[in-house]
Parts: sequence; C-alpha cells; structure tokens
Amino acid sequence: HLPADGGRPRISVIGTGYLGATHAAAMAELGFEVVGVDVDPAKVEALSAGKVPFYEPGLPELLVRGVESGRLRFTTDLAEAAAFADVHFVCVGTPQRPGSNGADLRYVEAAFEGLARHLTHDALLVGKSTVPVGTGARMAQRVRETAPSGLRVELAWNPEFLREGKAVADTLRPDRVVVGGASAWGEDLLRRVYASSVDAGTPFIVTDLPTAELVKVSANAFLATKISFINAISQVCDKAGADVTQLADALGHDVRIGRGFLNAGLGFGGGCLPKDIRALMHRAGELGADSLVSFMQDVDEINMRQRQRVIDMAVQTCGGSVLNRRIGVLGAAFKPDTDDVRDSPALNVAAGLHLRGAQVVVHDPEAGETGRRVFPSLTFGTSTEEAVAGADVVLVLTEWPQFRTADPVALLEVAAARPTVIDARNCLPAQAWREAGWSYRGLGTAS
Ligand code: NAD
Repeated sequence: HLPADGGRPRISVIGTGYLGATHAAAMAELGFEVVGVDVDPAKVEALSAGKVPFYEPGLPELLVRGVESGRLRFTTDLAEAAAFADVHFVCVGTPQRPGSNGADLRYVEAAFEGLARHLTHDALLVGKSTVPVGTGARMAQRVRETAPSGLRVELAWNPEFLREGKAVADTLRPDRVVVGGASAWGEDLLRRVYASSVDAGTPFIVTDLPTAELVKVSANAFLATKISFINAISQVCDKAGADVTQLADALGHDVRIGRGFLNAGLGFGGGCLPKDIRALMHRAGELGADSLVSFMQDVDEINMRQRQRVIDMAVQTCGGSVLNRRIGVLGAAFKPDTDDVRDSPALNVAAGLHLRGAQVVVHDPEAGETGRRVFPSLTFGTSTEEAVAGADVVLVLTEWPQFRTADPVALLEVAAARPTVIDARNCLPAQAWREAGWSYRGLGTAS
C-alpha cells in the first residue's frame, strides 16, 4: 500500500478543529491526498462543502481548492481513514480537565485506539495535539496492544506550533518541524510529508518522544512567561511613572531578549496558552519537578490578575461603581484575526463588568457570534459606533486593526460627555485620542 521510496504517502487528519482543518487543507495544497475525520457531523458537513466553521484568514480559499481538486475530503468514519491513509495525524483537542489543572486526554486516547483497531495495512500514527510529557509513550504501548498483528504500526510525535490568525502560513512554512520517537522508517515518511518546507530551509529536528512533547509546552510556557513578565513590569511602570511600551521597545533591541510577546496589557488567553501552562504545572508536579510548578503558578497568577486590574480601572473611572453605567467594549476574541473566545480575557472583563451591573455593549469584528454563544446574556453590537454610543467608558480589549485605527474624533461625537478610553492593549495612538477630547488610560503608560 505504501508508495515506494520518495512517493507521497496518503494522509489522514483525525480531529478537524482549528489545528486539524488547517493541517488537512495545507497538506492537500501541497499535493497530498488527504482525508479529515471528525466526530462532529456538522463540522464534517461544513468542511465537505468547503466552509470553514471558524474564522481563519486564508483558510477558506485553501479548503475550497483542496475539496475541488478531489484531493481533500472529510468523513466521520474512522475506519475509512484507517483503510485509506499511510500517515495519520492526530489533531484532537486536549482541553483542561474539569476541576483540575491536568489535560483531558480522553479524545487523544480514543483517536489512537480507534485508529489502531481499524488499521488494515502498515501505518505511521503521528500525534500533533499538545499533550503532557509521557503521553506518547503510553499511546505507543496502547497502539501496540490494539493494532492487528502482522502490520507495521508505529507512533511518532510531531507537535504543532501554528498561531491562530496566521495558521495557513505557519502550516505551509513552519519555523521548525520537530519529530519525536520515530524509527528510520517513520522519519523517512515524515520527511516526505514535510519535504517542501525542509527543502525551503525549515529545520527538521529529530528527537525522542518526551523531548518532542516538552518542546511544545516549553515554547508556550516561555511565551506566557514573557507576557507575564512585561505585565509585572508594567505595574512598576504605573507606580513609577514610566512608560512600558518605550521600555519594551528598548528591551527588544537586545537580540537575547527580542521584542515579540513583550506587549503589556490584558494578558494571554485562548484555547492553548492557559491550559497548556496549567497542564505543564500539573505534570511537573506529578514528576516532582517543583520549581516549574511554582514558576508557572506565578506566570498564571500575574496573567489572571491583569483581568481584575482592568475591571478595577473601569470601576475606579466610574467613581467606585459601574452599576447602570454605559460601558462600550471593543473586542471579544482572545486576540485579533480570530473568532476564538476560548478563555478570552476580553470576554472575561466584559462579563465581569456586566455582572457588576454595567450596561455593556460589546463589538468584535469576527467574534460576536462565538462570544454570544459563551455569554448569551451579554449584548453584542454590530459596529464600533454601536458599542461606543452613549458610553461613559470605552475599553479596548482586543487589538484588532479596526480599533487601533478608529477615529477618536468621530467616536467622541457618539460617546457620552467627557468619556474615558481604557486601552487595555496599549494599542491606540494615545496622543490622538487625548487631543480628540478623550481621557486616555493605558496599562503602565504613565497615564
Ligand atoms: P478544537 O477543539 O478546535 O478541535 C478538536 C477537534 O477534534 C474537534 O473538532 C472535535 O470534534 C474533534 N475530536 C474530538 N475527539 C475526536 C475523535 N475521537 N475523533 C475525531 N475527532 C475528534 O481544538 P484545536 O484548537 O484544533 O486543538 C487541537 C489540539 O492542537 C490541542 O491539543 C491543542 O492544544 C493543539 N494545538 C492547537 C493550536 C491552535 O492554535 N488552536 C496550535 C497548536 C496546537
């Protein structure tokens, strides 16, 4: 079944959410025959019709091209994928377990076991989901126990580093490809899958299973640490009258530090960073690696405190209570260029103000619908003007370009008299907003 040396293996992608749908469409774009599998029939139906069920720039075009070419299809039938493909990428969710910091691995377990049970020919099973270190070895054992005898069935881990909002580019041309636990046979198959990136200069890093698993969570832990670090510094800036943005710019010129992920503000959220650092602290605790437990706890706590800090700023701006005050919220997504509201700091703050009795109107260019699903009691407007209309306080909680470039003069006309803007992402031109007549407050910006 497997193509001879150098041929293109057939690919399956198990779990077609943000990661899997992007991976499947990108592989088809690169010329592979791909089948995507999901347990959610609505998702499979949408993707089969060339519709991406979430917002990701560039992905709809890629999906349509793949489906129309006949190289890309979707199914709910795992057995069909097992019979079709040579290389299977497991991209199912690994959310935080309810009532725990640990990761919920039941979807990963179901995917590997289900696949192994249905295999009809030699296959490489590749984990892409973000998992606690040790999961790959456990899954390899289960696959060995479950797969039909007489077949060559191997497992490798190939963690994914894509960023939502830039997922297409990150998948077609990743910064690096990390492969853990592959035999020479498995490595050869994955080199064929990633040949176009590797030929273009992408480093292909071959390592063992635990290292590959840990590279991913360490990357997220480090990014989270940078954000919490600059947010902790921003608090000192507030107290000392310094400007954290200028400070970050100056710091960033040091190549050892770099400017990325040093924007002070409302902090990180989304479907990855928060649950990944918690899963890491949980796993580190299990392994007795206590330094990392307390370290990640601090990073998490600093991050979550930023949300309270912004709520407190709004309450203080309103003279001690937001009850019945009209508050405009710009942003619901956890970051720009996505409609993802999983653990979104913006929604958290909007809901917090709503629960304190404020009349909150939220606007987000893409995340209105997903936001409404999570917080049906919040009011969502369809434009920036609608959120700002009559508002005493406007909070910018997601740094969409539309908000960064909004006209403060025009918005002043629709807001209440003498309004305040709280720029919780330090993304607005403060001077222009002040000159237009707004009272401007940033985080750590000596305002
Ligand atoms: P998601 O919730 O959007 O997608 C997961 C999909 O898996 C869902 O569509 C679900 O229906 C499906 N699924 C669950 N069990 C299944 C099964 N047994 N068989 C087939 N399908 C099944 O999640 P996501 O954001 O795509 O993340 C998936 C994994 O990738 C997670 O481990 C995450 O940490 C990791 N990751 C995500 C990103 C990102 O930016 N979203 C980046 C890198 C890594």
